[in-house]
Amino acid sequence: MTKTPFVTKDRLVSICEHFPTPFHLYDEAGIRRNMEAVRDAFAWNPGFREYFAVKANPNPALISILGEYGCGLDCSSATELILAEALGMRGDKVMLSANDVPAEDFRLAAELDAIVNFDDISHIPFYRHVAGPIPKTVSCRFNPGGLFQLANGIMDNPGDSKYGMTEEQLPEAYRMLSEAGAETFGLHAFLASNTVTDEYYPALARILFALAVRLERETGVHIGFINLSGGVGIPYRPDKRANDIRAIGEGVRRAFEEILVPAGMGDVAIFTEMGRFMMGPYGCLVTRAIHEKRTYKDYIGVDANACDLIRPAMYGAYHHITVMGQANGPDKSGSPAVRTYDVTGNLCENNDKFARDRALPEVEIGDLLVIHDTGAHGYSMGYNYNGRLRSAEVLLREDGGCRLIRRAETPSDYFATLDVQAGVHARLERIAHGEAAQGVR
Ligand SMILES: *Cc1c(COP(=O)(O)O)cnc(C)c1O
Repeated sequence: MTKTPFVTKDRLVSICEHFPTPFHLYDEAGIRRNMEAVRDAFAWNPGFREYFAVKANPNPALISILGEYGCGLDCSSATELILAEALGMRGDKVMLSANDVPAEDFRLAAELDAIVNFDDISHIPFYRHVAGPIPKTVSCRFNPGGLFQLANGIMDNPGDSKYGMTEEQLPEAYRMLSEAGAETFGLHAFLASNTVTDEYYPALARILFALAVRLERETGVHIGFINLSGGVGIPYRPDKRANDIRAIGEGVRRAFEEILVPAGMGDVAIFTEMGRFMMGPYGCLVTRAIHEKRTYKDYIGVDANACDLIRPAMYGAYHHITVMGQANGPDKSGSPAVRTYDVTGNLCENNDKFARDRALPEVEIGDLLVIHDTGAHGYSMGYNYNGRLRSAEVLLREDGGCRLIRRAETPSDYFATLDVQAGVHARLERIAHGEAAQGVR
């Protein structure tokens, strides 16, 4: 089983002549085709809107592509709200789905007239205290507790998750919001992450639709939208089947017809907050083999590290790797796997491995490697441990051209937050710029 990169070896070699590795490369055509499929899958619901989860990939160039299709943004912090505003989004195009929310996030949401998705009932008086009047359109996040199961097994453990309100709290929260002036209500839940099954959204929809009917009857509020949030997964492993968004949309439609329409709630809008599904497969981390080490195992050291992609280190997540080869060498992308390697980054941290015991073609120093599916929760989870600097982001455009959509960090970025003596600062800057000029990342 294999996965094919969205870029050919020859094209990648030419891209690398312009942009030094490592960098995240994104596939505009893939993002657009997938966005169109999402739009079509939910076209049966006139109010449908995808609020792209900014935390999955906060690059403005990529968000703008989704914006062309009418997407809103799901923000998790004040900084992401600032990004939304900078992209011209406000009002019902912006959702704040945060938890443990700082006052400034609520204040900024109020300024942008954003939809606030309350994570907890106690946040309602907190919001009024720090941000002012309750917005006209609000939402509440539901957590059913217990284990969340589908036919193929346990998907996740909501009972152990910090998010959302209990079913008992919801009517009380709606009443408080209603008395405070809210007019349109939403219901939201996120019960399982990276679900590679077409059953997740329909099963979640059934739970939320039935709950919405009960809540509307019990409290009399008008439920305007139901937000299925994120959680639609992607096949990181080559033997997994990709989700079929049309089947997912159709499954949600059936639940809608069976539960909401008979209850007189056929005007409810369906919202989603997908991050991974919108971007994950349309990004990859391009890196180069710089060392081969043979000790108790065989290691390939690459020029990227966990600061560029933390998922393998943090979750033991699988990311497929294709060895592409080098400029004048053979195209290795279809070659049989003949060796077993750990593919490592350079952090002083033994979990900085993109792959463990991975069967790959023979890797030579200088070979380009593509680490797949980094378009979501890739760059955005980056950090600066060991003084390592985050990589660039490059967009492979539909017309085949390339555009740098975020430069790589330089040492100056790393030192920018320091308040040190002027002399030290000048020295750091001088060294940093000297290094940057020589192409040191
Ligand atoms: C992370 C998150 C999402 C996106 O999740 P994906 O798994 O990337 O689809 C959506 N909504 C909320 C509230 C989130 O925290």
